[in-house]
Amino acid sequence: MTYLYTTLGKRSADQLGMILPHEHVFVDLRTPDQPGYAEADEAEVLALMVPEIEAIKALGVTALVECSTGGVGRRADMDIAVSLATNFPIVVPTGNYREPWIPDWVRDASEAELGDWMLRELTDGMDETGVPAGWIKISAGDDGITPLEANILRAAVRASKATGALIGSHTIRGRVVMDQLDIIAAEGGAIDRFVSIHTHAEPDFALHKAIAARGAWIEYDNIGAVPVSESADLIVRALDAGLGPQLLISHDRGWFDPALPGGGTPKPYTVVSTELLPELRRRGVDEATIVQLTHANPFRAFSRP
Ligand SMILES: [Zn+2]
Repeated sequence: MTYLYTTLGKRSADQLGMILPHEHVFVDLRTPDQPGYAEADEAEVLALMVPEIEAIKALGVTALVECSTGGVGRRADMDIAVSLATNFPIVVPTGNYREPWIPDWVRDASEAELGDWMLRELTDGMDETGVPAGWIKISAGDDGITPLEANILRAAVRASKATGALIGSHTIRGRVVMDQLDIIAAEGGAIDRFVSIHTHAEPDFALHKAIAARGAWIEYDNIGAVPVSESADLIVRALDAGLGPQLLISHDRGWFDPALPGGGTPKPYTVVSTELLPELRRRGVDEATIVQLTHANPFRAFSRP
């Protein structure tokens, strides 16, 4: 039996329906050394983000995966506050983003120390919240994984092997993903516990197939950022290539931004439900495949024992 580890506790597959596997409730893209980094007033966060969650609840979405990790303003306490205010489960990661979004303590930590920290967050809880992290979010640069990023990846593999937690990486280039898969294999990690985030950004479709052929998840998470017809073209191409069982789809949208007055203006998480799925149905994608993409795949990817 596997469970999604959420802000509201463990959830089994029969307690959930549609899940959005890559969104953001709270992000700060300033580096951690900047004044005011990740600081915000909880009441302002609730005022901005509760309506966004209520909008997807009304469309039948049952859970959302927060993709803001260490170095880009992860605030587990804010995710929990939004979740409690809406009675809506959110899956929050441990881990850390790529250079230069790496705080000094992560830069200075050994692989073992980082692995132990991720393991504690996945089992005992994030920060002082007592709520366990649901998964591990990392990243690698576009020109190749750096030694520091590789250290974070190897630490993530340690924590994943101990818990079964999924590792997701913001990696734009498919070639870099292949290098990450080599590192995971060398460390004895499970390739099927890895998701290549932003796979849609890799223009060479052969690499989408090559990453999936090695057993990893691929993710098209720009729904709403490009015309829906373009997203549907790519998804249908992946389905025709047999990649449906390993494909995740989401918006990569939201969010409260502490760098902007009042958190800025969030982009809604509704396009998959209101525009993409109707377009896929118009193109003949059957209901079983729709359920696979929106319910079964995200649960299977992000759940663990
Ligand atoms: Zn994202």
